[in-house]
Amino acid sequence: LTVGIPIFDHHVHMDSRSANEYELMAVSGVEAVLVPCTFTGERRNSADAYFQRFERILGLEARRAAAFGIELVAALGVGAGDLGDIDAARRAVDALPSYLRREGVCAVGELSLKSGTPEEIELFERQLVIARDEGLPAMVEVPPGGSGQETAAALERAIRKHGLRPETIEVVDVGAAKLPAFSHLGLGGYGIPVSPANNGLFAIHCKVDAAEAKRLLESYGDRRLMFNSALHLGSGDPLAIARVLLHMRCTGVSEDVLIRLAYGNAFEFFSRSGRLQLRRRAA
Ligand SMILES: [Zn+2]
Repeated sequence: LTVGIPIFDHHVHMDSRSANEYELMAVSGVEAVLVPCTFTGERRNSADAYFQRFERILGLEARRAAAFGIELVAALGVGAGDLGDIDAARRAVDALPSYLRREGVCAVGELSLKSGTPEEIELFERQLVIARDEGLPAMVEVPPGGSGQETAAALERAIRKHGLRPETIEVVDVGAAKLPAFSHLGLGGYGIPVSPANNGLFAIHCKVDAAEAKRLLESYGDRRLMFNSALHLGSGDPLAIARVLLHMRCTGVSEDVLIRLAYGNAFEFFSRSGRLQLRRRAA
C-alpha cells in the first residue's frame, strides 16, 4: 500500500479519528504525526477543561499512535473555536508555558480567530508572544470559507506590534484561494491540506488535489509547502497524503520534491526549536 515516501502528517486531529485510521496511515507511509489543539465542539468554561485536552493529546493520543508504530508530537494552544469563559481561557494561556515544556510538545497551536473580537485577538497575540519567548514555532489555522484576509491582517498586526519573526509561523488550511493573502508576510510554512476529490457528507475544509498541488508548487516553490491531511471531525481519507503523492509522482513530480512536501519541509520547520524528536533525523 505504501508509495514508499515517508510522511510526517504535521496537521491532523487524531483525537477525533479512529484507531483503524492510524493503521491505514501507518501502512501508507505515515511515520509521524503532529496533533494540534483545535475546535472539538465543547465549550471550555474552566482552565481545567483546556488542560484536560492537553493531557489527552500528550497521554492517551500518543499511546494510540505508538500502538501503530507512529510517533506523535503535539502543538498546544487555546483556540477561539471552543471559547466559553474568557477568564478561563486567560488562565489557560497563563499556564500554557509550563505545558509547552512537556516532552513531545514542539509548537504552539493551532491558534485561530473565529469572530475576531478584541478578546480573541488578545489570546491570539499573547500566545504568539509565548511561542516566541519559549522558542517554539506557531501554527495558525485559517478558518473555512472566505479569502483568509482577516487572519492575514491579524497576523500582520501581531508580527509588527510584537516584533515576531514571521519565519517561525506557519499557516494551515490554505490552498490556491487563500495563499495569496499570506504570501507577502514571509511566513515559514504553508500547511496544505491535501486529498483526492472527496464528496463526503460532512466535509469541513476544502482539500487540495494533486492537480492544484502541482500548480501551487509551480507558483510557490518546493521549500515552504507542507502537505498534511487536516483530518478532523469531518469526512476524510486517511490515505489522502499517500494518494496525492502517488498522483503527483505519476504526473512527473520528482521523488526529492515529494519527500520535501510530505516530510522534509515540516521536519525542518518544526526542528528549528530543537524540540522535535523523531526517529528519522533528516528528510
Ligand atoms: Zn486543524
